[in-house]
Amino acid sequence: MTTIGDQQLLKRMNRSVLLRLLRAQPGLSRARLAAESGLTKSTVSLLVRELIDEDWLSEGGTAVADGLGRPSTPLRINVGVRALMGVEIAVETVRLVCVSLQGEVLYADTHALTDGSPAGVCAQVARMAAAANAQLKKGGLRVSSIGVCVPGAVDDCTGVVRFAPNLGWRNVSLLPALEEAFAAVGLPGVTVQLQNDADAAVLGEYEFVASEYKLAANENKLASNENKLASGEGEDPLIFVNCDVGVGAGVVLNDRLFTGAQGMAGEIGHTILELDGPLCSCGRRGCAEAFFGSRVLEREGADTQRAAAFFGVLLQNLWVTFNPRAIVLGGKACAEHRGFAQAAFESVKRHADGAGMPAPALRTARYDELAPAVGAAALALHEYLRPLQPDAKARRARALARAVA
Ligand SMILES: [Zn+2]
Repeated sequence: MTTIGDQQLLKRMNRSVLLRLLRAQPGLSRARLAAESGLTKSTVSLLVRELIDEDWLSEGGTAVADGLGRPSTPLRINVGVRALMGVEIAVETVRLVCVSLQGEVLYADTHALTDGSPAGVCAQVARMAAAANAQLKKGGLRVSSIGVCVPGAVDDCTGVVRFAPNLGWRNVSLLPALEEAFAAVGLPGVTVQLQNDADAAVLGEYEFVASEYKLAANENKLASNENKLASGEGEDPLIFVNCDVGVGAGVVLNDRLFTGAQGMAGEIGHTILELDGPLCSCGRRGCAEAFFGSRVLEREGADTQRAAAFFGVLLQNLWVTFNPRAIVLGGKACAEHRGFAQAAFESVKRHADGAGMPAPALRTARYDELAPAVGAAALALHEYLRPLQPDAKARRARALARAVA
C-alpha cells in the first residue's frame, strides 16, 4: 500500500503550490490563495499555519483587500529566519554564499582553494560553512540547507563525483564526506546536496527570477535584511553556460533541472568541435574546453577571435538542440573577456537570422561570479518546490545500478 506516501506527497505538493504562488505574488491572503490554487479554504488555512510555524511564511502588515469583499491579512515568504547556504568548489577557489528564500545574498566569502584533495576540500568547505553559520546566527538566521557544486559530472542519486578532470577526481564519493565534515563543525542534520556547477548555476537564474541582489559593502557582514526582491517562475527551457577553467551547461527543462540518466547532461565542454584538435584536460583532442576554457584564453598569444567563433558554434548547437527561451553566460572566460561573450552572442543571432527564427534571449549571469554558489543554495529550494514521488529517486538509483552493472 502506498496510501500514506501518496497523502504525504499530496500535502507536499499543496504546500509547494502555496509557496510558489506567494513567491510570484507576495501579499496574497488565505482567501486569494484558495481562489488561485483551487484548494479549499480549510486546507489553505491548515497548510498556511504549518508554513508559518516552520518559518516559510510570515503574515501581517497592512491588511489588503482580498478582492472577495473583505480586508484580510497578507502573507509573504519569510526572509527573516531561514537561510540557504551554497558553496562552489572551483578549480582555484571556494566560494560560499548564504541567500534568503527570495535569493537575496546575505553573506559571501571567497578563498583560494588550499588543498585540492577531496579530504582537503571537505575540510576547507566545512571551516568556511562554520564561519558563515556563526555570522548568520548573530543576525537571527538559521541555515536550513547546504548545496555544494563542483566542476564535474555528479551522479545526483549517490552523491558521487564521476569525473572532474580539472580537479583530477574520478568516482569520488563526495556527498557523504561533506555531510561528515559539516556535522564535525556543528552543522549536523542539515540537508546537504551536491550538484555540477553549471547545473547549480542555472537553478540560481531560474529560481530567483527578479533578484537584483545586494551584497553588504563590507564582505562577510550580513546585508540589511530588507527584502525588495520578487521571485517567480523563470524562462523554460533555460540554459546556463559556465565558461570557466572547465566549460559546462546547466539545463532547466519542463520546470526541472535536467541532468540526464547519469548526471552527464550538459557536459558540453567535452563535445568535440575539431577532430584531432588541441589536447583537452579529459585526455581527448578537440574538445570545446580546449578552445575557450579560461586557461586557454589566458595563454600568451591566445586567439580570442577564433575562440569566440568556436564558442558561437557551441551556443548555436545548444540552441538547435534545446530551443531554449534564454541562454545565460557565466564564468571567468566571459567575465574577463567581455568581447568574447559578445562575439559569441552575435554569432548565435546571425545563425538565427539566417534560419529565419527568433534568437533566444542572451545575457550574462545575474549573480556574476557568485552564480554557481547562489545556484547551489537554490538546490534545496528547487527540490522543495517540485516534490517528486518518494520512490522516483529510488527508481532512478536502481536504473543507474543496472546501467553500471
Ligand atoms: Zn575534453
